[in-house]
This record gives sequence, C-alpha cells and structure tokens, in this order.
Amino acid sequence: MMTVTPHRKAKALKPGSRRPAKELCSECGLCDTYYIHYVKEACAFINQQIAELETQAHGRSRNLDNEDDWYFGVSQEMIAARKQQPIEGAQWTGIVSTIACEMLNRNLVEGVVCVQNTKEDRFQPMPIIATTPEEVLAAKVNKPTLSPNLSVLEQIEQSGMKRLLVIGVGCQIQALRAVEKELGLEKLYVLGTPCVDNVSREGLQKFLETTSKSPDTVVHYEFMQDFRIHFKHQDGSIEKVPFFGLKTNQLKDVFAPSCMSCFDYVNSLADLVVGYMGAPFGWQWIVVRNDTGAEMLDLVREQLDTQPVMSKGDRKQAVQQSIPAYDKGVTLPMWAAKIMGVVIERIGPKGLEYARFSIDSHFTRNYLYLQRNHPEKLDSHVPQYAKNIVGQYELPE
Ligand code: FAD
Ligand code: SF4
Repeated sequence: MMTVTPHRKAKALKPGSRRPAKELCSECGLCDTYYIHYVKEACAFINQQIAELETQAHGRSRNLDNEDDWYFGVSQEMIAARKQQPIEGAQWTGIVSTIACEMLNRNLVEGVVCVQNTKEDRFQPMPIIATTPEEVLAAKVNKPTLSPNLSVLEQIEQSGMKRLLVIGVGCQIQALRAVEKELGLEKLYVLGTPCVDNVSREGLQKFLETTSKSPDTVVHYEFMQDFRIHFKHQDGSIEKVPFFGLKTNQLKDVFAPSCMSCFDYVNSLADLVVGYMGAPFGWQWIVVRNDTGAEMLDLVREQLDTQPVMSKGDRKQAVQQSIPAYDKGVTLPMWAAKIMGVVIERIGPKGLEYARFSIDSHFTRNYLYLQRNHPEKLDSHVPQYAKNIVGQYELPE
C-alpha cells in the first residue's frame, strides 16, 4: 500500500494558490500534487468540459436528441445487478470492490486508487494506492465525505506503475481525465460511482446529529429508493428517516458548495459506473460507457444476478412540487412526512424514473444555487444536457 507524501514542486507554490476553485473546491486532491500546475484546465469547478472529455474517453459526447443520454450519459449497456454472494460490510453488494480485486488478481492492473478510512474515524477518508485485494477490501463502503482521492496521483509516476484502476466520484474523475495523458500510463481503467450531496467531515457530523437518533453509532447510510434515508447502526439495526421529514432548514448549509454546483451526478467520464438509483430496491445499477467498461464488467458477470433496467411512474409533478421545499428549506412534521413517504413509495417513480426524479430534483436545486451565488458561472458551468433537464421545470425567481 502506498500513502501520500507531498511533492517537491507542489510545495514550492505560493500559499493561497492551493485551491483555485476557492469555496467551490471539492477537495478532489489534484491540488495536493504536482499536477496542480494543470488546475485551471483540469478542475471540474473552474473549467467545465464534460462534452470534450466524453469524446476523449468514450469516442463521442452525449447525443442531445436522446433523453437517456441527457440523464445517464454515454452508454453501451445499462443493467440492474447484485452479487450472488454479497461482500459483508460493503455499501451495497460490493460489486465495486469485487471488480477491483479481480483486476489485481488477474494482473490487469498493478494498483488501485481507492479510499480507506483513518484508524481513529470510520468516516475520515484516507486515499491509497492498493496493491493487494486485502487493501481494496479495506476500502469498501462509502466515506460520505469529500475525499482527496487524487492526492496519491504523483506517486504513480514515482512508482513506475503503468496499469492502473482509479475508483472515484465525478469531480475526481473529471480532473483525472483532464491530466490522464500526463500520468505516463499504458492503460488507465476508471470505475466510477454516482455522487450527490457530499459533505465535509464537520458537515457530516451536523447531518448525523440533526437526522439520526443515535449519530455516534451510524456505520453507513444511503438515501434509498423508498424515499427514506436508511442509517445502519453498529448493532446491525436499521433506522429509516423519510426524506420529507429532513430538517432542511437546519441542513441548508450542510452540503458542500461544490456539490450544490455539481451537474455530474452520474459520473459521465468513468468507463463503468456502479450505483443503485436506476435499479429496483436491493439491486445495484450498472452503466457501461465504453469497451473498457465492458471488459471490467465481464470479469465479474458470472458472480452476479442480473435483470434488465425498468422504468415506472411519472416523476414530473413530484419534482415540480419539491422545488420550493428545497429552495425555502421547508420541514414537514414527522407524521406528515411518513404518510407522504408511504404514498410516494406506492405510486411514485421506480427504476430509471426514480433516477430521473433524483437527477431532476438535484439539478434544479443546484441551478438555483448557482444562479444566486455565482451567476457569472451559470452559462459556462452548466452543461447543455443539464440545461435541457432544468428547462423542463418552472423555477422561482
Ligand atoms: P463497495 O464495494 O462498498 O466499494 C465502495 C468504493 O467506494 C470503495 O472502493 C471506495 O474506494 C469508494 N469510495 C468510498 N467513499 C468515497 C468517496 N467519498 N469518494 C470517492 N470514492 C469513494 N449511487 C447512486 O446511485 N445514487 C447516489 O445518490 C449516490 N451517492 C453517493 C455518494 C457518495 C459520496 C458515494 C461515495 C457514492 C454514492 N453512490 C450513489 C454510489 C453507491 O452508494 C455505492 O458506492 C455504489 O453503488 C457501490 O456500491 P458497492 O457495494 O459496489 O461498493
Ligand atoms: Fe483543486 Fe480539485 Fe479543489 Fe479544483 S476541486 S481546486 S482541482 S482540489
């Protein structure tokens, strides 16, 4: 396993120039390395270039006449899947960790960029380059905090590795793709997860304390397709809190400004994306973007149960109605939130329509956030596919 050491040249940079994206910085880690020299072109929050990088990575950018492309990005295949034998303690069934282990076991790569946690704090991210399956497995489960995964990048050049897998979220992968050619690799594989509403470590504490009955015992949580947050506690019990009961007035400032201005929920530039939101409850959602992604998925297909993706319901009214609630930070009383959650779960959007619901809700909220806080960035920072999505709704002034 390799851990982070600061680079000579990076140290020489002037203080204050370390995070050029300022408050929009997502702490992706690029600026902790020598590659900070490319930050003005590479940073997802300074230079939005998703369409150009899609062409570089997948051979084409999104087709703007195809609504599936607006929402889910360039893809060859989408399926729902789950491991026949789930990995105990993984975020879902452990498809991400399994692919990474297979790639090391079959010598397809020499190292895997992934994120473990520190010994002291299960939610404090510690990026590493794993060189054994044991180290990959020690990185399983989400660290629901901003993580400087790219801080290990310059060690790749130093180690002489030529074949690498990087696991990461959208903002990390955008910066990675932008500097990919500088890394001296023969082959880069990119395994992405969707990502939304991430927080700093302090923000996470506030979120847990305002939302869970027992914040100190939470081991992981997920915003589920049944419109509830599921907190898993140390003793294995699951606590469910309806989305509509969230104390949004207190949580308004919890999410990182980078995540409030992000339009790459579905990790457009990864070769293969593994999430859950386009799949039925209990299943994972897989998007193969290119041939490299297909090669990675093929390594584990026989370990998976699979089914085609499905789509049911109509999200549009629910999204339109949630816009003012998100915007004004309205909180429903818990009894009303529970009823609303149950009704929406019975008649509400399922499968890909649930994924569209979540994308629409976040993109409209983020568009308003950017319009109010960084109006000068609105035009260049919001990709055309996201403008199309937001354009389907009426937004408050
Ligand atoms: P595991 O086998 O448990 O592996 C998890 C992997 O995630 C590990 O390799 C680890 O290196 C990596 N990782 C953990 N934390 C981070 C981090 N902070 N930054 C970068 N990499 C990390 N999916 C959706 O469909 N909708 C969502 O809204 C959504 N939000 C997410 C928010 C965050 C912050 C993260 C990290 C993931 C999110 N996902 C979302 C993806 C989903 O929660 C699962 O991570 C994914 O389905 C893989 O599950 P698994 O069991 O295969 O992963
Ligand atoms: Fe640097 Fe990454 Fe922050 Fe952009 S998001 S300023 S590239 S650390």
